[in-house]
Amino acid sequence: MVQRYDAVIVGAGGAGLMAALQLAGHANVAVLSKLYPTRSHTGTAQGGIGAALGNEGEDHWEWHMFDTIKGGDYLVDQDAAEILCREAVETVYDLEHWGLPFSRTPEGKIAQRPFGGHTKEYGKSPVRRACYAADRTGHMILQTCYQQCIKNQVHFYDEYHVLDLLVSDGRCAGVVAICLATGEIHTFHAKAVIFAAGGCGRMFRVTSNAHSLTGDGMAVVLRNGVPIEDMEFFQFHPTGIYKMGILLSEAARGEGAILRNKDGERFMERYAPSLLDLAPRDLTSRAMYREIREGRGIGGKNYLHLDMTHLGAEVLDKKLPDITEFVRTYLGIDPRTEPVPIQPTAHYAMGGIPTDLDGRVIMDERNTPMPGLYAAGEVACVSVHGANRLGTNSLVDILVFGRRSGRHAARFVQESDWAPLPPNPDEWASGQINRLRNSIGQERAVDIRDVLQDEMMEKASVFRDAASLTAMSEKLKELRQRFANVKVEDKGTRYNTELLEAVELENLLDLAEVLVEGALVRQESRGAHFREDFPTRDDANWLKHTLAYRGEKGVTFRYKPVTITKFQPQERKY
Ligand SMILES: Cc1cc2nc3c(=O)[nH]c(=O)nc-3n(C[C@H](O)[C@H](O)[C@H](O)COP(=O)(O)OP(=O)(O)OC[C@H]3O[C@@H](n4cnc5c(N)ncnc54)[C@H](O)[C@@H]3O)c2cc1C
Repeated sequence: MVQRYDAVIVGAGGAGLMAALQLAGHANVAVLSKLYPTRSHTGTAQGGIGAALGNEGEDHWEWHMFDTIKGGDYLVDQDAAEILCREAVETVYDLEHWGLPFSRTPEGKIAQRPFGGHTKEYGKSPVRRACYAADRTGHMILQTCYQQCIKNQVHFYDEYHVLDLLVSDGRCAGVVAICLATGEIHTFHAKAVIFAAGGCGRMFRVTSNAHSLTGDGMAVVLRNGVPIEDMEFFQFHPTGIYKMGILLSEAARGEGAILRNKDGERFMERYAPSLLDLAPRDLTSRAMYREIREGRGIGGKNYLHLDMTHLGAEVLDKKLPDITEFVRTYLGIDPRTEPVPIQPTAHYAMGGIPTDLDGRVIMDERNTPMPGLYAAGEVACVSVHGANRLGTNSLVDILVFGRRSGRHAARFVQESDWAPLPPNPDEWASGQINRLRNSIGQERAVDIRDVLQDEMMEKASVFRDAASLTAMSEKLKELRQRFANVKVEDKGTRYNTELLEAVELENLLDLAEVLVEGALVRQESRGAHFREDFPTRDDANWLKHTLAYRGEKGVTFRYKPVTITKFQPQERKY
């Protein structure tokens, strides 16, 4: 079955919907999403969207830009960061005009709260920059953008899982997807494809990420010769619910919550004397691991406390209602009276599909674009987050660069003709599905995934070294062999989730390999990538972006310079 659209968008989170809105009315556009759109992970974002509105104290986009670059440990492309921070302001006002119910100041302006690493006057003290709707900011953004899409008659293919990218003559020609309800394979012939398929946190055991975040977008393009940029940088958020990983937003600390060890000590005083609990996430997660390693975890175990007891019922009920409820539901604890057990949780991929400032996917260190192929949001790497993302900057990124890629694609589809479909366009995707469905192997995908998640947590998370990464690399080879022997017991066609979980696992295995090999090669510590055997940042050799390609010989690397405009790399202290 072949469908034709000027533009196809893969993913219906904030990035995909914002891109779709730019194309609606100008081109024939379809959004494909493996989830019903409003179940996309954007809807779980809690804390806020950063923009220098200056509603609650002086603020400027230049300060936001500086914080973003320093927060990213100077691996940020500064031209991209400038766009992010400038366009954040108009983006938030667009959302307001579309009816997003932001929390308000007493005089009716959009309310703003402090967040980790966001400061005034280039690092002097915390600033109120995060715009929020209680702790349901992402939910409101997703609903608002979805309503706009419906109003503008965007065509949705809900519960279509994209399996393959079509490339002919070096140009993007479309995608192949499986319809979950019927099991049918569909080919979408398109002039432009925008990947907005979100992250890949499910390669780790303890993660804030939804079950669906299996890096499909990254893995699909990687298989088609596109590199993945800076995958070795994976963010661990300091406050996940112990063992479950469910996120308790940094907004809690923005509102005054404190991290404590077994002695009740506010240990961040020792690690970040000026920003304390609002230090960036890489630094805070490392501090927490250190506390635990040195025996100061609660009861000697591998967790710490998030203390919200002094915030008062009003702040918790009005500003943090959802996370208060999560704590009650999942831990049976009342955060008004008891501290909450937390541990760092795998949260965000700084790396992804490399793009230029208009979301065009680039193929090499010379920024050569693949005509017609775009990426935006967490799946992409533009790179505004460098080696460590600041809280609230992803919601900005998905909207600002979702919009830019949609706008560019709208022009592109007007000006260009169709790339021909390759012969047998669904050959690879149908083959993958049939191979899995008919396999007579003995392995269960879920067992392989369990090992992957546990081992990645142990060997390739907050702390790494050559020994742990080499061991992980070997483990991945073993898991790949086991995967070749995987069996899918459900032979059905309708909503065959077992089959799709196997597809997703294969994607996770590919991306874990890119992450681990990239981390092994990068012999320095920067942002979220901390090598115990190379504990310092090495700008002389490593102030550059990784481009990882995956082929017959495994993963190979090229490197791309970092764009520096206004801020020279400095020592990073908070
Ligand atoms: C719990 C939590 C809280 C967060 N809080 C904040 C916050 O307060 N502020 C902030 O800035 N950031 C926050 N983040 C990060 C931020 O929410 C995400 O990075 C961002 O929303 C990602 O948006 P996206 O549009 O790129 O992808 P997503 O919203 O993840 O959407 C991905 C889309 O791709 C589709 N998809 C995936 N694979 C396929 C496939 N194979 N075929 C078809 N469709 C596919 C999915 O169906 C989905 O529609 C938070 C993240 C989490 C997990």
